[in-house]
Amino acid sequence: MVEAWHRPTKAIIDLNAIKENIKLEKKLLKKGQQLFAVVKANAYGHGLIPVAMAAQTAGVEGFCVAVIDEGLALRRAGLTKPILILGVNPAELAPLMAANHLSVAVDSLEFLKQSERLLHSEHLKLAVHLALDTGMSRIGFKTTVDLQNAVNFLRTHPAEFEFQGIFTHFATADAATDGYYQQQLKKFQQLLAVVNPLPPYVHVANSAASLWHQACGGNMIRFGISMYGLNPSGNVLAMPAPFKPALSLISQLVAVRVVNAGESVGYGKTYTAQKKEWIGTVPLGYADGWLRRMQGSKVLVNGKKCEIVGRVCMDQIMVRLPEQLPVGTKVTLIGSEGSLQITAQEVANYAQTIHYEVLCGISARVPREYI
Ligand code: PLP
Repeated sequence: MVEAWHRPTKAIIDLNAIKENIKLEKKLLKKGQQLFAVVKANAYGHGLIPVAMAAQTAGVEGFCVAVIDEGLALRRAGLTKPILILGVNPAELAPLMAANHLSVAVDSLEFLKQSERLLHSEHLKLAVHLALDTGMSRIGFKTTVDLQNAVNFLRTHPAEFEFQGIFTHFATADAATDGYYQQQLKKFQQLLAVVNPLPPYVHVANSAASLWHQACGGNMIRFGISMYGLNPSGNVLAMPAPFKPALSLISQLVAVRVVNAGESVGYGKTYTAQKKEWIGTVPLGYADGWLRRMQGSKVLVNGKKCEIVGRVCMDQIMVRLPEQLPVGTKVTLIGSEGSLQITAQEVANYAQTIHYEVLCGISARVPREYI
């Protein structure tokens, strides 16, 4: 993918906000709890390496990624702290992970058996975090018998495996009611009871659990969305501390024209002016992650909220301006301008999705600028 630097559309990432969010979170942690920055999916669209570097400066103890290649990219960038791959992987890739000191989530005895042979022949040792399925039905051991078999296998193969961690993931830590969360926690504790001694890392908390369920315990937090300054629950629960959004999305008007009464705008002629109007064109579209369903939503232009009229094109949108404005006028799609603000949450509400998806959806074509 080509990054479009010769175009005014860009995502501005405030690395200081990320650092401050980490410091804020650290103050909420219990003694002995470590903070791992979740930087998967290009650091939720914010840029993997710059975010990881900033997080390291702010004092995180490690990183979580989703896939091997994200871990390899961190290693290539020179980061030496622990990296945990949260997803499961084929046994053939065990030597690659071990050679690069990438710890990995494991959820089957088959993986351990198959990778043991490969690791043994290459004299490599893989650090493993056993995943427990306590209610997500995604990955993880579900029964004490299966878990015990995996633990026994790890303990009888100390040359090939380091039993480094055990973890689960909550489905509803961001919900207004905590019934299902409590069920999951109980199941986790039941499963954990058959593991003695416990591995160095025991972890359950994502951002939501760390903010609203501090009693869930564990000695490591997998800190994702709130590091980027957003509320994991959307609008459901209030944030306990003033986390600050790190990403703004901005552009400029590249064309401004009069559209007369009866003239239409965009593909499918879905918008027709009722009177003479000023229409500004902004160089960003669905290929940049600005979803087609954002038609009718507002962007900030010259301190005013202006509607996107006509269909969102692949590379451009058209907005109705309050007056004639010069080409080059700043347009804010996510962020603040004066006293007005458009949050990623508002964009998500309009697009009927979650802010995670809005941020991850900002495509690789949009350059990230760091301040
Ligand atoms: N832990 C696991 C296993 C995850 O899958 C995720 C994100 O999807 C996180 C932690 C981070 O969650 P959040 O961004 O809500 O903090």
